[in-house]
Amino acid sequence: MCGGTAALKFEDLKLFNGKFVLKDQPYYYCKRCGDQYVTSEQMGRQEPKVREFLGLERKFISTGGSIAATIPPVIAKQYGIKKGRKFKWVSESPKKLAIVLE
Ligand SMILES: [Zn+2]
Repeated sequence: MCGGTAALKFEDLKLFNGKFVLKDQPYYYCKRCGDQYVTSEQMGRQEPKVREFLGLERKFISTGGSIAATIPPVIAKQYGIKKGRKFKWVSESPKKLAIVLE
């Protein structure tokens, strides 16, 4: 930090080679030297969105008489998964179950 005045700006943050965009993310930039930085509070707010994008840690839910796994919206968008689209469960190992889209 050079001690210059910091200004708050908003910009789209692109992650994973632009596959995932966090819209209007706040960050500060220094009016004197142009340094950019985000506060830990700002980072903390982005984290759940990034985790949701990765979709790595989810829990099964129950709906009606079935157990269901939900697909994060960003994953659904990336794979073109929509209600009614057919898929198959493929058992790969006792701990690995894959979805194959038709
Ligand atoms: Zn500065």
